[in-house]
Amino acid sequence: MKFFYLSSNPNDEGKYEIHERECELIPDILDREYLGPFNNGKEAMRKAVDLNPKASTCKQCCNTTFQAVFFKNN
Ligand SMILES: [Zn+2]
Repeated sequence: MKFFYLSSNPNDEGKYEIHERECELIPDILDREYLGPFNNGKEAMRKAVDLNPKASTCKQCCNTTFQAVFFKNN
């Protein structure tokens, strides 16, 4: 289980990002809302859209397969 948070401020695309607690891109403690423990970003997303229909998963911490490939190529 990981602990997920929902950003209170929209990103450049007007979406509210979901972050895992250890994510380096997670907003400041005052600018985020605790979602709860989930197995992955997709499960956190289900809860987040109830709170905010504009929620979207963070590319950095909620898409681990993509992240691994992305960093390997960098
Ligand atoms: Zn993140």
